[in-house]
Amino acid sequence: MNLNHLTIKQASEGIRKKDFSVTELVSDCFCAIKEKDSEIHAYLEIFEESARADAKKRDEEISHHNDAELSSLPALFGIPLAIKDNILIEGSRATAGSKMLAHYHALYDATVIKKLKKQRAIFLGKTNMDEFAMGSSTENSAFGFSRNPHDLSRVPGGSSGGSAAAVAADMCIAALGSDTGGSIRQPASFCGIAGFKPTYGQVSRHGLIAMASSLDQIGPMAKTVEDAHILFEAIRGQDECDSTTIKELNYELGIKNQELRNLKIGVPKEYFSEGLDVDVKAVITEALEKAKRAGARIEEITLPHSRFALPAYYIIVPSEVSANMARFDGIRYGYSVSAANRHEQRTTLTDTNSKDTRRDAENLYDVYTKTRAQGFGTEVKRRIMLGTYALSAGYYDAYYVKAQKVRRLITQDFDNAFKNVDIIAGPTMPMLPFRFGERTENPLQMYLADVYTVAVNLAGLPAVSVPAGAVTRLGSKLPVGLQFIGSHGKDQKLLSIARQFEQLT
Ligand code: GLN
Repeated sequence: MNLNHLTIKQASEGIRKKDFSVTELVSDCFCAIKEKDSEIHAYLEIFEESARADAKKRDEEISHHNDAELSSLPALFGIPLAIKDNILIEGSRATAGSKMLAHYHALYDATVIKKLKKQRAIFLGKTNMDEFAMGSSTENSAFGFSRNPHDLSRVPGGSSGGSAAAVAADMCIAALGSDTGGSIRQPASFCGIAGFKPTYGQVSRHGLIAMASSLDQIGPMAKTVEDAHILFEAIRGQDECDSTTIKELNYELGIKNQELRNLKIGVPKEYFSEGLDVDVKAVITEALEKAKRAGARIEEITLPHSRFALPAYYIIVPSEVSANMARFDGIRYGYSVSAANRHEQRTTLTDTNSKDTRRDAENLYDVYTKTRAQGFGTEVKRRIMLGTYALSAGYYDAYYVKAQKVRRLITQDFDNAFKNVDIIAGPTMPMLPFRFGERTENPLQMYLADVYTVAVNLAGLPAVSVPAGAVTRLGSKLPVGLQFIGSHGKDQKLLSIARQFEQLT
């Protein structure tokens, strides 16, 4: 067996038992990347040299370990991970899928990266994404789209499509993504893997390039829910660099074993209405039947304001986007006119004859003007304009304030539902992975892909997409994800239920 096919759990056991070395594990991941990534394009950049060097260090570190020392290694010791390109790793490029940041190198580690480094995980590279995480297919990446490993003519979902494709094609053991309105769960569903969006505030956003700050959350994407749980445990926790992280006290801690028997699963009738692909519906219905046979009680519930979630999301997100994107004015990131000028002045003063340095300065200026002219892609520009409009005097009350009120009602819907059920379940996506270009013409068509995922972010709840089955279409077996939504702060309960369910499918 190729080691790159292993889960975190298996790989970590193998390392501890010395069945194989970290070097071999990392090596098999790079073999897979070399074999498949020219077609799939999950990665924007790979760190082959540093990852191999780190692997060697890990092997040296444990070469003299006794059994007790080996068994007390951190859960992610030596585990090769892929990181979405909007998460900062000091010294590495972080483009967020945008030309605007094509030359930006991170000056510090995101808190999640610090935590993973502490566990001595290994970073294989940065993964492709829709520009600044705006999109559902990776087609909005400024660096070309990624393909779905299950059918190369279809999208992997977005915006964390690169991470999902890398996990699904075994080009890493697990990955990190970010989710503002579904960007972890959607690609997880399309690529047939597990993707978890934690309760807002469970995971620090420090070092995550912001899209919409009141909704963004980093989370794990993995081959199993168990792996997602392990990765989540490694990255979660209050952080003084992100004041929106919540105290440990307010969360339930520790991995619980939750039985499906007698569990009450609420199925919102609004999540099975028009627009849901009939084959997706059949897979979800069958999966819920399995949970029922395992002893769970399935109950129809209502989330009456569901149909307002998408419109409210597409007011609130662009509003926050328009504020967050304002910092990318071309002066602070990449090459700037002033940097080019300073460079030229300095060289003029010290060495007036150096044609080379002068040409360097001109090149810098050239890169700058090109970057600025190319700047943001269409979707980002669209959201800046929509958001600026929604926030402008005269429209603020009619749009932004109203959307915030709707957000409150959506949160109340969930609060009411959780008075009677343990968990809520439904489809993650209303459709199967679509073909390239199918939804790019009309932005509303793309937005409709978010219909079942955005309410969770508006309410700040935890939710996970778990592979539920597949549909054969035109010769391809296309995965379908089932979404479980938990109540606020009950991430552990949610994950342990999802793990039980995973055993059934
Ligand atoms: N597809 C959604 C959007 O475009 C979600 C994006 C995300 O979660 N980052 O806004």
